[in-house]
This record gives sequence, C-alpha cells and structure tokens, in this order.
Amino acid sequence: MFITLEGGDSVGKTTQAGMLEEWLTGEGREVVRTREPGGTPLGVEVRRLLLHGGDEIGAVDPRAEALLYAADRAQHIAKVVRPAIERGAVVVQDRYIDSSLAYQGAGRVLDVDEVRRISEWAVGGLWPDVTVLFDLAPEIAAARRSSRDDDRLEAERQEFHEAVRAAYHGLAVASPERFLVVDASGTPEEIHAIVRARVAERLAA
Ligand code: C5P
Ligand code: MG
Repeated sequence: MFITLEGGDSVGKTTQAGMLEEWLTGEGREVVRTREPGGTPLGVEVRRLLLHGGDEIGAVDPRAEALLYAADRAQHIAKVVRPAIERGAVVVQDRYIDSSLAYQGAGRVLDVDEVRRISEWAVGGLWPDVTVLFDLAPEIAAARRSSRDDDRLEAERQEFHEAVRAAYHGLAVASPERFLVVDASGTPEEIHAIVRARVAERLAA
C-alpha cells in the first residue's frame, strides 16, 4: 500500500507521518517512511542542489528544475518505493507528484500537464492508493514556523502559498477517490484519528 502526505509547508506532514508509522508498526505492518525529494543517496544530492544550491549552481531553469525533481522521483520509486510495495510493506511518503503539480501550478511557470507527464514517465505511472492533503491557511502555517524571515518577505510568500493551497484543492477535487482532505488546524491527535480511520478502511478493503 502506498500512502502519500501532501500540503503546503509547515502543515504538519512530518508529525503525521511519524504518528502513522507508529500506529501501523504497532499493527504489525512493515512501514517504509520516506520523502521526496531526498529519499535515496542520489536524491539527497538532488535535494541539496534544488533547495540549497544557491550561487554554486546559479538560477535553475524551470524545465531543468522539473527534471531534477523527476530524476529524484524516478530513482526513489525504482529503488525504494516499488520494492517495498512489492514485498507488502506500507509506504508512508512525505510529498510526491502532487507536490510538483501544486508548486509548479502555483508558480505558473510550466504547464501542469507537462509536469504530470514527465512525472508519470519517471515513475512508470505509479499513483498512490491514498493521498492525504493537510489543508491549512498559510498564515497559520507561517505562525507555526519557528524561524521567520522579515515580514515583507513573508507576505510575498503568503500569496504564493495561497496559490499552492488552491492548486492542491483543484487536484483533490479532480481525484476524490484518491484524496482525503483533512483540516490541519486541529491537534495532532485529532488529525491522526481522521487519517487512521481512512487508512484502516483501505487496509481492510
Ligand atoms: O516538505 P519539504 O521541506 O521536503 O519541501 C521542501 C520544499 O521543496 C517545499 O517547500 C517546496 O517549495 C519544494 N518542492 C517543490 N516541488 C516538489 C517538492 C518540493 O517545489 N515536488
Ligand atoms: Mg516537513
């Protein structure tokens, strides 16, 4: 079974991944908890370039950026995720194709259908069984972040994060059978209970 966790920055994906892992492990399941970008040794290098490349690599062209995410994803699915699913493990993954679609869609730089096509090609068409979308107003997410940049920078980012949130909503509406949309303003325990109910239902099916 393949579960992905999606949503904007600081909505609580990592906390929920940990709680999901703990519960599933207690149920006697093998759990592979992983993330993108950065779920393989190659991916760790790609993540470093994408998120912390800075002056070392200069401005990255949007197509090059999309291909780097796709390269991380191809390696990750081939080496980690597919083998885990094939041996019956439950994969709990922080971010997947929907992240690329939502972030690229929000940036409006590349056509979202093109990003979808290269992602699908990279992974041989593997889609999750369940995708949990943690939905939270960007200002609440920003307030959760401990280290905040100056307010003007933060305000500009708010607009981008609103666009990311809207893009995620569109993806969820388009695939209601795959998505579980959870209000991420609750306590970790409340949110976990909702996620757990859906996953338990799918595991029993
Ligand atoms: O959640 P995590 O900290 O791993 O994400 C880091 C950042 O990478 C996100 O905030 C987002 O800006 C970016 N990202 C992206 N497209 C992806 C995955 C991550 O733009 N497919
Ligand atoms: Mg996180």
